[in-house]
Amino acid sequence: MTSTRIPDIDRRALFKTLSYHLTKSAIAKKHVGLLIIDIRDFKRINRTFGFACGDQVLDDVIHRIRLISPHMECVIRMGNNEFALILPGMDSPAFVGLAVNRVRKEIDSSFRWYDKEFNVDICIGAAVTVGDRLSAQAMVLKSENALQQAKEEGLPFFLDTASDKDIDAFNWKLEKDLLDALAQNQLQLYYQPKISLANGLPLRAEALLRWNSPDHGSVPPDIMIPIIERAGKMTELTKWVLNSALRHLKDWPQTFGQMGVSINVPANIVHERTLRDMVNDALNIWGVKQEHLTLEITESAVIKDQQSSFSNLTHLNEAGIKISIDDFGTGYSSLEYFKNIPAKELKIDKSFVFNMFNDVADKNIVQLVIDLAHKFNLDVVAEGIEDVETLKILQTLGCDFAQGYYISHPISQSDFIKWLEEYDPSQFL
Ligand code: C2E
Ligand code: MG
Ligand code: MG
Repeated sequence: MTSTRIPDIDRRALFKTLSYHLTKSAIAKKHVGLLIIDIRDFKRINRTFGFACGDQVLDDVIHRIRLISPHMECVIRMGNNEFALILPGMDSPAFVGLAVNRVRKEIDSSFRWYDKEFNVDICIGAAVTVGDRLSAQAMVLKSENALQQAKEEGLPFFLDTASDKDIDAFNWKLEKDLLDALAQNQLQLYYQPKISLANGLPLRAEALLRWNSPDHGSVPPDIMIPIIERAGKMTELTKWVLNSALRHLKDWPQTFGQMGVSINVPANIVHERTLRDMVNDALNIWGVKQEHLTLEITESAVIKDQQSSFSNLTHLNEAGIKISIDDFGTGYSSLEYFKNIPAKELKIDKSFVFNMFNDVADKNIVQLVIDLAHKFNLDVVAEGIEDVETLKILQTLGCDFAQGYYISHPISQSDFIKWLEEYDPSQFL
């Protein structure tokens, strides 16, 4: 376990930090969120494993919350087993939901105390405001009331009711503006390279959706995709992504040979027959060979409707298009599924890669996935590589491809062309 001890500070310090961020966000016309995170039945951990273990759990919880906040001062221990997370400068109030999911995901993986392994259950109360419309005191009160409500109703998370209404109103405008942007061709694709760990060559790049909205700032795909999905426009989006990516690929310098491009195919399209036609049409229009296109499909999408997905993917695979299983490790697939999977590549989810330098269990999982994938003749890509140490370990574990901020953040088409022109394959070997 890690031990990043942030000193306990009293509520006055929380008010001070929160007030500072409220004022700053008011100037920038941004939103501020507050999460109060409570460990359920913390006494049981002390009773079962002793106080030293309880202390370690508190340290570890605060460390895990810190992982999702770039601002050290925004993670505050408030009481014995309560923590506050301030979310300053948000473009959209809907980011609160994302932060809640991330906190829950971080805390969800098990805790260890010597040879014992156990889970920690948390409950979250949240509030959000635009600028400094609410005072720090009012924000804390609203989050605490929301936490109380979550506890009473046995829910993992509750958002203050007034914040909820604000988010609805905001989302309504966001949804309208986003669908207009999609219709008016104002969305963008950024590219993130995947390099070969055997020779350093950049062989493929993943296309990632971006939207720089004049009113909402830069809106991440995790917010955009569910909105587009709800509006029933995922086929339209995927068609646009596919065609834009293949058009862009034709302009990439061929210093290292013709690179391939990967696009993300959403779950609800994987089993649709239209996918095959859409892909074939786009390849014909842009004159791109099948082998230069990879379709990234999440593990859970294939599991959802296995029979029709497998038949669709088998056709695409036989036609020479690469199928890649994205976010592998998060979807609970069985070994049976491995036997028949019509794929050429497997991407290990970044949640396993982030900590593999410090966490032996994560490193072992990554090793296991690499060995398993190779047994089934699948290439392995590790995503989320943020430092040289992780890159080196992956090299020794026999991972085939690497993708992550350490190599390059996702960048615009023009920046990606420059990146390729200046790229030296020996730099990551
Ligand atoms: P994904 O397909 O698993 O894409 C990888 C995500 O990890 C990207 O986030 C990328 O920016 C991020 N990433 C890559 N390297 C690192 C790293 O070293 N550290 C960290 N912290 N993150 C890293 P992004 O662009 O926000 O996309 C999130 C998800 O949204 C994607 O996950 C994908 O599921 C979805 N998405 C993105 N673009 C599209 C699209 O065009 N169509 C569809 N259907 N989904 C998309
Ligand atoms: Mg992907
Ligand atoms: Mg992924």
